[in-house]
Amino acid sequence: MQAIQNFYPLLTQPKKILITTHQKPDGDAMGSSLGLYHFLIQFGHQVTVVSPTNWAAFLNWMPGCEKVIDFENKREESIAAIQQADILFCLDFNVLHRTRNMESYLKKANCIKVLIDHHQQPEEEAFAYGISNTGKSSTCEMVYDFIIGSGYADKLNIAIATSLYTGIMTDTGSFRFPSTTASVHKAVAHFKELGLNHTAIHENIYDNFSESRLRFIGQALLNRLDVLYEYNTAMMAISKYDLIKYEIKTGDTESLVNYLLTIQGIKVGALVIDRDEERKWSFRSKGDFDVNTFARNHFEGGGHRNAAGGRSSESLDQTVRKFKQIIQQYEQELQ
Ligand code: 5GP
Ligand code: MN
Repeated sequence: MQAIQNFYPLLTQPKKILITTHQKPDGDAMGSSLGLYHFLIQFGHQVTVVSPTNWAAFLNWMPGCEKVIDFENKREESIAAIQQADILFCLDFNVLHRTRNMESYLKKANCIKVLIDHHQQPEEEAFAYGISNTGKSSTCEMVYDFIIGSGYADKLNIAIATSLYTGIMTDTGSFRFPSTTASVHKAVAHFKELGLNHTAIHENIYDNFSESRLRFIGQALLNRLDVLYEYNTAMMAISKYDLIKYEIKTGDTESLVNYLLTIQGIKVGALVIDRDEERKWSFRSKGDFDVNTFARNHFEGGGHRNAAGGRSSESLDQTVRKFKQIIQQYEQELQ
């Protein structure tokens, strides 16, 4: 993978560009994709954004979101866009299998592949150019750096600022995680100078849910929370019954795992959800406990040191039992 600087000369030659991100895109995945979209179209490129799956409805207000194609809904259109692309940008993921059913098409695609991502252990050989930096708060921050580094800072507009702010805000936990550096705040200051309305973005993302989602969170905290004090770990398992009863949709469970770390002294939070296709784990930690390695070693996953995900094809009960057994190995580390 060559340094991204070597890619910059291609910016000014109009091409067919495809932007994609990980399945079930979150604020950072969607924000970085749309931020880059609004930048690239200014050079006369023909730009298409394809998401491997659907996304949370609370992202639909984002500028340009209506143009994003859902691969699962519009397979033929998506496959044609992949096959015709001269350049492919992969944002906010670094292993192609995170694009689920798109993976085989992306692998086969005979185009210039570019990576911009902040997760651990990138599949570097799959990309011609790229930036992989696990020290960065978000892929949105990296797209901002990419734009500034290109020498076209004058092309930053309010649509780009709004898109990028969204992912920076969500991936930093609203500017609280250690990855929130001075550079993050400087980027946000730049967005404010461009006229960014940050309050509207916070409201669009965090005050945009159904009543049943709030009741779902209430019942999950009341009835599904399991605190393992001997391991300073809190966990929660959400059954299919809960998902159906409260009409839980994509994105509705996104912040649930964070509640687990609000208990005093808890160092690891683990949430598992009984989805149709798999049991999906979310792990969060405080301090040194590395949930990226934990997810990689035990639950076919990965991510960051303090936030990672994984999966299991066992039943909900089995995967919970497995988690409770495995966590015992870490008793000393978690004291
Ligand atoms: P979340 O728990 O919010 O779904 O994911 C936490 C972090 O881990 C995110 O940065 C996400 O991209 C990453 N992640 C989630 N699931 C997986 C997975 O199955 N594999 C890998 N490599 N990363 C994941
Ligand atoms: Mn991210």
